[in-house]
Amino acid sequence: MSLTLYNTLSRKKEAFEPIDPENVRMYVCGPTVYDYAHIGNARPVIVFDVLFRVLRHAYGADHVTYVRNITDVDDKINARAADEGCSIRDLTERTAKQFHEDIAALGVLPPTVEPRATDHIEEMKALCETLVEKGHAYAAEGHVLFDVNSMADYGRLSNRSVDEMEAGARVEVAPYKKGPMDFVLWKPSKDGEPGWPSPCGIEGNGRPGWHIECSAMAGKHLGDVFDIHGGGIDLAFPHHENEVAQSRCAHGTDAMARVWMHNGFLQVEGEKMSKSLGNFITIHELLDTQGFGGSRWHGRVVRWAMLGTHYRQPIDWTVDRLVQARSSLFEIAELLHDADVGEAPNEEVVAALSDDLNTPSTLSIIHGLMKSARRNPDKRAELKATLQFMGLYGSETVDELDVGRTACDVDEAAVEDLIAARLAARRDKNWAEADRIRDELSGMGVQLKDAKDPETGEVVTTWEVAR
Ligand code: AMP
Ligand code: ZN
Repeated sequence: MSLTLYNTLSRKKEAFEPIDPENVRMYVCGPTVYDYAHIGNARPVIVFDVLFRVLRHAYGADHVTYVRNITDVDDKINARAADEGCSIRDLTERTAKQFHEDIAALGVLPPTVEPRATDHIEEMKALCETLVEKGHAYAAEGHVLFDVNSMADYGRLSNRSVDEMEAGARVEVAPYKKGPMDFVLWKPSKDGEPGWPSPCGIEGNGRPGWHIECSAMAGKHLGDVFDIHGGGIDLAFPHHENEVAQSRCAHGTDAMARVWMHNGFLQVEGEKMSKSLGNFITIHELLDTQGFGGSRWHGRVVRWAMLGTHYRQPIDWTVDRLVQARSSLFEIAELLHDADVGEAPNEEVVAALSDDLNTPSTLSIIHGLMKSARRNPDKRAELKATLQFMGLYGSETVDELDVGRTACDVDEAAVEDLIAARLAARRDKNWAEADRIRDELSGMGVQLKDAKDPETGEVVTTWEVAR
């Protein structure tokens, strides 16, 4: 099987050749644990889980090491623990546990290693020391800073030049920095903040910067140079650029990872997800409350909906997308829940995944396989193996997948109110609002039919609960 992956570093698709096929190594930046993970955070988790499965299929399950870290030291964590009046440990433990529960429901396999930043402080301090010894970092006013001008090709990953970045630097530059783009490897901790004895001859306690955490954990678990590094596109700069700078300069290598992969961003109903817009959805809300489209959604439905868009494209998260995913899975459950599991996934599906994870194409192939399995029961085993390979189906029954409506029996008065609001929106020509209400109803399992009253010419809407 030949695997092709798009590499952010070269800006093209490349044939993937592992450094050591006996141990293919991948690192993906994991969550900072201070709050529920949102549906955008679920995207890299699902995308790189698919890649993990493809690599295991190609090289053998025991020949892939997948590291996804947990960032449990960060200023956002300190602030949240202070707000809640709980200990940092309580907050990070509770949030990490919730994260594990949420993503397990999305059919995500555990990574091979899940290192925590606070278990790697010594490795981070050692990296600081090495970088200072090699002339790539300096200590100043309790901080250790990376000297960006000491690295000839800083900016290569995100395709930026240091001169342009310096010219565009708007943040007020701390007086102790040699250059405006120099970034923090270590910083001093005040009383009450988490802290460890500082490296590089600095007195007092301090704590690591965010970027050094990933360089230390990746280096420890995967070595100086490994195969694949992933994360969301927002991390390409500055986080990944700075990881590359630290790791390459400390280890004296020409690369940190051979292939850099970035997933596109997720937005909700056409808008950037944000707390202030009120369209911020956590994975927990999607799965466990009726917070999106008036319904709860099964984790497999969420996963299916996510894989309908290629990972490098932006994705628009809509109720409609979930409704369609749910109806495909209902059909699958009816077709397959008592079927045997075949030995191997469908080859066309494996080939599409091997082409830079073309998941939209796999879903069309799967729809074709569903058609033939309906006609020919012998085809069911291969379809089941294929869906299990992609993490899209366990052996759930329709009732198990139908969490939305078992949890919220349709409230007729609420439906009538929504229909009236939709008709009013249509009269005002507010089509976006009318569509949004239709989607909300569709999420509740309610399907609308519009017809013109032949006498008055007015639109009359009837509805039914449909699967
Ligand atoms: P964070 O906890 O913000 O560092 O994010 C964890 C992971 O989720 C990173 O890989 C981010 O790039 C990714 N991520 C955050 N927001 C989104 C979004 N709206 N769409 C896609 N990926 C995201
Ligand atoms: Zn990272």
